[in-house]
Amino acid sequence: MNERVTLKNNNGHLEIGGINASNLVKKYGTPLYVMDQTYIEDMCKTFSDTLKKEYGDGMIAYASKAFSCKEIYRIANNMGIGADTVSGGEIYTAKSVNFPMEKICFHGNNKTTAELKFAVESGVGYIVLDSYTEADELDLICKQLSIKQKVLIRINPGVEAHTHHFIQTAKIDSKFGFAISTGEAEEIVNYVKNKQNLDLVGLHCHIGSQIFETKSFVIAVNKMTDFYKKLKLDYGYEFSVLNLGGGFGIYYAGDDAKKSSKEYAEYIKLIANTLKEDVERKGLKKPFLILEPGRSIVGEAGITLYTVGRIKKIKNIKNYIAVDGGMFDNPRFALYQAKYTVVAVDKMNLSANEKYTVAGKCCESGDIIAEDCLLPNVEEGDILAVLSTGAYNYSMSSNYNRNLIPPVVMVKNGESRYVVKPQTYEDLIRNDI
Ligand SMILES: *Cc1c(COP(=O)(O)O)cnc(C)c1O
Repeated sequence: MNERVTLKNNNGHLEIGGINASNLVKKYGTPLYVMDQTYIEDMCKTFSDTLKKEYGDGMIAYASKAFSCKEIYRIANNMGIGADTVSGGEIYTAKSVNFPMEKICFHGNNKTTAELKFAVESGVGYIVLDSYTEADELDLICKQLSIKQKVLIRINPGVEAHTHHFIQTAKIDSKFGFAISTGEAEEIVNYVKNKQNLDLVGLHCHIGSQIFETKSFVIAVNKMTDFYKKLKLDYGYEFSVLNLGGGFGIYYAGDDAKKSSKEYAEYIKLIANTLKEDVERKGLKKPFLILEPGRSIVGEAGITLYTVGRIKKIKNIKNYIAVDGGMFDNPRFALYQAKYTVVAVDKMNLSANEKYTVAGKCCESGDIIAEDCLLPNVEEGDILAVLSTGAYNYSMSSNYNRNLIPPVVMVKNGESRYVVKPQTYEDLIRNDI
């Protein structure tokens, strides 16, 4: 595990935010998502301070699809950062807690007409276009509302980031963005430039997620600034904004690099310094820099607590431990064979020398949480913690098999509180006719 002051082994017991995990279980039950507020705030602050110090004018926009609920927008706002949204629902949630709409970027390869209209009416800062007809539609909406909307265009710089196929988003073959190399990016820039009600202030790229190879980010900056230069020389366009997305890799298990917030900030430092050098060398105006980390802000802040149920030992093959959660609270193994660190929260000082596969309770053989984990001898009733579940777990949860989505508890300085309440069976049938 990637230990820190607020996530540690306290005399054989897992402690998060100053509270023993087993005490949280006594109070709230399992399955339970727990989020460490100190960690989230530290990441927000370290990222935005680094951006300010190393670059100057810019904004961290938390990619809220990683974990979205009212409280996370309140925290992001208190920390002075913006947010990145990908649906009307995320915009609505942010708006419900008075998040400053001008600090919101709205992304997506297929935003609906209703979502575009809602975004414009809400005063969203930047809409990131990803198609010609979307530009047409947005232009018309803005005309009807007499609003000139700031927009960016999603560009595909063609950077092959070394990560899982499904979370790699900037190869030429991608449902996202317009490729520079094929000339398609240049065409759409000219198209959007001519839209009366759209103010094309810059371009955006996001090259993937869970990226450790920092060189990928450097190449992306180089390619985007080359493109800015080309657009300046060929057409006289000078953009005032550049949005380089997120994608910083975090620690889950095994060989993943273990980093502190300061070390995570190295990603920002590298991007900022590469960009500063590039704009100077290429004779460009220094753009307002937007970065959109999601996973790295909330991922390691979160853990999921489960109670061990049935244990099935298949001789010479595998030991399965079934827990009271599964793919309905964490579908990432089923989606990408994601790896996790699992610990037995009250057996932290026992040697972990038995191999177990942690399975969920859903009716799917692929409903696995983590494969081949080393744990001490585990018995029914033990509490397990799966670490680094703060990103893309709650936000990807479902009611599959009509299981209840676990509540989310935020912890800080020894105090805990619900930020998402438990569901009830009544909630499950609420919209059924
Ligand atoms: C998902 C996404 C992000 C955040 O990615 P992380 O890997 O969570 O940092 C940022 N920008 C865009 C456009 C995204 O789609």
